[in-house]
Amino acid sequence: MPLQGKRVKMFVCGITPYDYTHVGHARTYVAFDVIARYLRYRGYSLFYLQNVTDVDDRILNRAPEVGLGWDELGNTYLKDYMRTMEALNVTTVNLYAKATDYVPEIIEQVEALLEKGHAYQVDEDVYYRVSSFEGYGNLSGVKLEELRSGARVEVDERKEDPQDFALWKSRKPGEPYWDSPWGAGRPGWHIEDTAISIAHFGPQYDIHGGGNDLIFPHHDAEIAQAEAFTGVKPFVKYWMHTGFVVIKGERMGKSLGNIVPVREVLERYSPEVLRFFLVYTQYRSPIDFTYEAVEEARMAYERLLEAYARARQELGEAPEAKAAGDVSLRGAMKSTASSFFQAMDDDFNTRDALAALFRLTSSFNAAVEKGLSRERLVAFLEAYQTYGHILGLFEGAMGPSPDLLEGLIRVLVSLREEARRNKDFKTSDWIRDELARLGVKLEDTSRGARWRIS
Ligand SMILES: [Zn+2]
Repeated sequence: MPLQGKRVKMFVCGITPYDYTHVGHARTYVAFDVIARYLRYRGYSLFYLQNVTDVDDRILNRAPEVGLGWDELGNTYLKDYMRTMEALNVTTVNLYAKATDYVPEIIEQVEALLEKGHAYQVDEDVYYRVSSFEGYGNLSGVKLEELRSGARVEVDERKEDPQDFALWKSRKPGEPYWDSPWGAGRPGWHIEDTAISIAHFGPQYDIHGGGNDLIFPHHDAEIAQAEAFTGVKPFVKYWMHTGFVVIKGERMGKSLGNIVPVREVLERYSPEVLRFFLVYTQYRSPIDFTYEAVEEARMAYERLLEAYARARQELGEAPEAKAAGDVSLRGAMKSTASSFFQAMDDDFNTRDALAALFRLTSSFNAAVEKGLSRERLVAFLEAYQTYGHILGLFEGAMGPSPDLLEGLIRVLVSLREEARRNKDFKTSDWIRDELARLGVKLEDTSRGARWRIS
């Protein structure tokens, strides 16, 4: 249940653009794309906000390694990310917000946290005082005592507690900086996200998403900052985290050196197949990435596409209202609808939703052998389109683009005109009747034929 009627505010932690978009990213953002699509399909008015961490240690460390300015590096990989998202049919984000556009809001939050005693300044750095926030670590269940007693390689002696995190980092040579009451510097990572989300959503909103690896410390830190800043609890109503992409038993991650960039997969498979592969697991479960598994996904996806293509093909020859396979397919469609939506209502279980679609495909394949009416085929195609729209699949298979269709109609219309000029009325009438059967009405005027799609 959203906080306000049918309005849903969703914030998902975005990327830090310092390298190519990999399959782990694709998994998270495809998952939230499906979640957004489904909530909108269900009638919610969803605003989907995603941040871009465009200033961060990882960018600043990488830029000199590759001989680029920090902002050039960020722009390069942000472009790669946007292109990848477009290829994967991720279309639901309303706003991508860059952290560097929110420095005034960040400074305002840091100032307020200092005033309230939740933060302290050391030289020109500002840290969050985790001991000041009751329940720090509750989201992740991490116990601070255990972390404190664990061996720490690097301890910053200036911090009161090793778990205190930076809100503001003082300027280092060669780094970008902004002026602040504490001197020139740049924001810490966690405060960027609360500044952006509070600027757009206020002190409380419905859904905060991200990868599993962000729960601690990132999301626990966000809660501590936001609730201390606004005084409103809870900051977020639903936390949603995607499972890891696993490769040979280890989480895929840049720091582990085992990432598979999306562009590498797209050299071998279409983006639709990759999207299908990712959607074929419920978002919280881990995905084991192997090319064998992607190949299996390709074959499974093809089975769905083949049924769709077959239904379109049969349409031309099908009897209008009644055929022997109709009853069994109608039954299968009814039970598919209920299983599909039940699965999606059960924490967006795309795995079970797709399983329902596979059962429908088998029923279709059996029914089409007995014969299906035009009416049933149209209903089947429409149902497929609805499921496809929710999952962001099949859209490449939905048929030619409107431009192509219009062009083809224009070619047929001029062929018919040509036939008429040659007094070949048999051909010209045949073209007119066939077009009419497909729902394209021709009207002869003094200035040539006009057409419209009914
Ligand atoms: Zn974040």
